[in-house]
Amino acid sequence: EDDSKVVEYLLKVLVVGDLGVGKTSFIQRYVHNMFDREYKATIGVDFAYKLIQISSDKVVRLQLWDIAGQERYGNMTRVYYKEALGAIVVFDLSRPNTLDSVKKWKQDIDSKVRLPDANESPLPVILLANKCDLVKNSINPTQLDLFCKENGFVKWFETSAKDGTHVEDAANFLVKQILETD
Ligand code: GDP
Ligand code: MG
Repeated sequence: EDDSKVVEYLLKVLVVGDLGVGKTSFIQRYVHNMFDREYKATIGVDFAYKLIQISSDKVVRLQLWDIAGQERYGNMTRVYYKEALGAIVVFDLSRPNTLDSVKKWKQDIDSKVRLPDANESPLPVILLANKCDLVKNSINPTQLDLFCKENGFVKWFETSAKDGTHVEDAANFLVKQILETD
């Protein structure tokens, strides 16, 4: 095999949401298939990478930017968001008020970063209803569909970083969206 024919795409994806919703845990589960119940606050920003083989000649290097919950109150997000091609907004199903901030995170992203296309389109953004292992039947799918439509989310996923529910599905969906729109 001739490695030189393999094309590698670098995709920068933002992971945002309030403090403690499970951003770092989602990334840990997705990248290392690990879960840590101990809470370590992310300071500023952290990074993780995952290589995804798309086909025999196409590899994606997914760069996940783990942005601390409090950063929206500062002016750093504009710097962190630069050149991102997609985003994941996370809320915590066991703390329904974390859904209130979701709109603010989405607006923060839309107002500070755009795709490098002629229309300066907004980034594809997915919504994660995380910690679904803790609460059963708390989601009204019709309502969340409508919420996504009204706020410009491509899709929502019910996830658990603890047991892995829909973690891969969500990430793979977003990567597919990004590759389709460019
Ligand atoms: P972040 O501040 O958004 O990065 O949140 P963390 O990933 O640090 O998670 C905050 C706390 O919630 C930690 O104690 C995690 O172990 C816990 N946690 C994260 N995701 C889940 C989940 O899906 N289920 C449960 N039960 N706990 C979770
Ligand atoms: Mg964190």
